[in-house]
Amino acid sequence: MTDDGRTVREVGEFGLIAALRAALPPATVADPSLVLGIGDDAALWTPTPGETLVVTADGLSEGVHFRLDWTDWTSLGHKAMAVNLSDLAAMGAVPRLVTLTLGLRGSERVADLEDLYRGAGALAAAHGVLVAGGDVVASPAGLALHVTALGETRAGRALTRGGARAGDLVAVSGALGAAAAGLRLLQAGSGRPRATTADLLLAAHLRPRPRVVLGGLLLDHGASAAMDLSDGLFGDLPKLLAASGVAARLDAAAIPIPAAVRALFPADWFALGTRGGEDYELLFTIAPDAFGPLRGAAAAIGATLTAIGDVVPVGDSRPSLLLLDANGTESAVAAGAFDHFAG
Ligand SMILES: [Mg+2]
Repeated sequence: MTDDGRTVREVGEFGLIAALRAALPPATVADPSLVLGIGDDAALWTPTPGETLVVTADGLSEGVHFRLDWTDWTSLGHKAMAVNLSDLAAMGAVPRLVTLTLGLRGSERVADLEDLYRGAGALAAAHGVLVAGGDVVASPAGLALHVTALGETRAGRALTRGGARAGDLVAVSGALGAAAAGLRLLQAGSGRPRATTADLLLAAHLRPRPRVVLGGLLLDHGASAAMDLSDGLFGDLPKLLAASGVAARLDAAAIPIPAAVRALFPADWFALGTRGGEDYELLFTIAPDAFGPLRGAAAAIGATLTAIGDVVPVGDSRPSLLLLDANGTESAVAAGAFDHFAG
């Protein structure tokens, strides 16, 4: 335990590591598969026989991905974990183990970093994920959080971006644009509207929920391709289409954008929903006759799935992403997402 006001510089590296380890839920640091956890040069972990490891890494940098005056420390830890578990979810993988590396100025309060670890640890524990170690490094220019996450295939299988076929449906989980709208509210500062809906949008931005269980259902029900939505529908779908060598036609009216986003941002709710990013919902393709059973299974775990268009063959002159508007007019979509912190 540390005194509340002490800084990283005051307690030193060993004191900090001991404090952070103690802030993690016990279930995340001890398990029969974790032969040797935090404290040695490296961890020893026994994977499930017959499965293939699924590995991903994602980092958050202060001023680029977060601001400390916009997030609490617990939410920041949650988000660093969530964005990595989301990438594993998109592969249909079972998350197993993470390492967490902190880049620190040295002036941070140890109590704040304990909160960060509590946030990361709570989400890890909720998904049965072990925290096997990491590193603490100096980062004078600002705080940085880097997570490496290991998952395992389910019975040797995984989802990729590369399997979409002409005739498949394009579908998404949840609703799109809430996280980007939440970021807009933070950018608006004290002038932002005070409403319950605003709180939901802020939560979507600060504490995204990785769709880990849903990723398993997509795999079990034969989704042909999948990815998680970190860069917005119009930023990410073109990547999936390119990987699969196909095109898509979307129905603008079908894209699920929350009423709160439409109400609070009447001028650009559609752009927030399609180019906003950071929703961490799953985008996938699936044969039409398999979609109904999947949607039923998803509903049983509280997840909503919406078909938003069709996969079509790539034509010589056809753009890879077409949008059908409410008037039945078809237009080409320019790929891309907002660069949130640039503006
Ligand atoms: Mg991803």
